Amino acid sequence: MTQQIDPVALTNATDITCESCGNYTFQPVFLFKRISALLSPDGREGIVPINTFCCVACGWVNKVFQPASGLVAQDYTPQQADPSQLTLDL
Ligand SMILES: [Zn+2]
Repeated sequence: MTQQIDPVALTNATDITCESCGNYTFQPVFLFKRISALLSPDGREGIVPINTFCCVACGWVNKVFQPASGLVAQDYTPQQADPSQLTLDL
């Protein structure tokens, strides 16, 4: 069952603005965390992509959108970085 947000409550909600430039629109982007073999569940170094949002105008990532230091990556499967599989479409 999906909970609906009261439209009146949403109208009165505070807009989040960019801490750098004051813009109020954001777009989804990824942060990438490199995880050491010592901390990786399978003992191999890997890269963890993390969804977040950046300012459309200047690219800034607000603190509220930055992953907390206590971030728990659940259902995480580390991916080995393999440069041979990277492609660049020009
Ligand atoms: Zn900005």
